[in-house]
Amino acid sequence: MIHVMFDIDETMVSIKRGLNAKASRLMFKNVFGADTDEETVDNFSKTESWIIKAVLDKVGIKIDRVPETAYKTWAEETLKMLADDPPKVLPGIREILDALSKNENVQLSLLTGNSPWRADAKIHAVNLCQYFTSQDHQLRGVFGDMADEREELIKIFKRKNKGDDKIVIVDDSLIGAKMAKDQNIPSILVSTGKIPKSELEKYSENVFADFGENRWEKVIGIIGNL
Ligand SMILES: [Mg+2]
Repeated sequence: MIHVMFDIDETMVSIKRGLNAKASRLMFKNVFGADTDEETVDNFSKTESWIIKAVLDKVGIKIDRVPETAYKTWAEETLKMLADDPPKVLPGIREILDALSKNENVQLSLLTGNSPWRADAKIHAVNLCQYFTSQDHQLRGVFGDMADEREELIKIFKRKNKGDDKIVIVDDSLIGAKMAKDQNIPSILVSTGKIPKSELEKYSENVFADFGENRWEKVIGIIGNL
């Protein structure tokens, strides 16, 4: 079995600028009574658990564990906003997911800093949920409520999936690229996010500007040859 683990933001979908922060502002106000938002910290490709704690710390609120209601409220506000401004599915993503979902040796999972609720809000809005939903109707993968550090997420996944299973990571972030390299996991990187192709090329031989035109077929080929 090959587990192909997809990041969400700027790898599969792109969300209107400012929407995530705006939704977080409502969550911080409603759940913690704080006037702040996620952009007050360096939130890029961080986990939701880390972001919520770091932002609250800045306004003098200390918490050990993020309450579930915070994740759920952030997701609900995101879902409402996405109804007016749906995410954009990035080039070649539907083609890749369609092709891989037909391969019995492949299982698609998420590896994302989003909580499962916010991940669902983002990919449900554009009908990508079907590829990541298991028979018990849960999203497969590891999520931003499971650890403070993104690097920890892949370790959690590995512990759950022992044996000869292979893993490949599809991501746009530097943290994701480093995590894959440090843990000796092959990666397929895409520069549709903030990190330029030249930077990502330091971490993987499989780097794409995007998966459009025929490039998605190359991704299928790389995974088939693992
Ligand atoms: Mg990303």
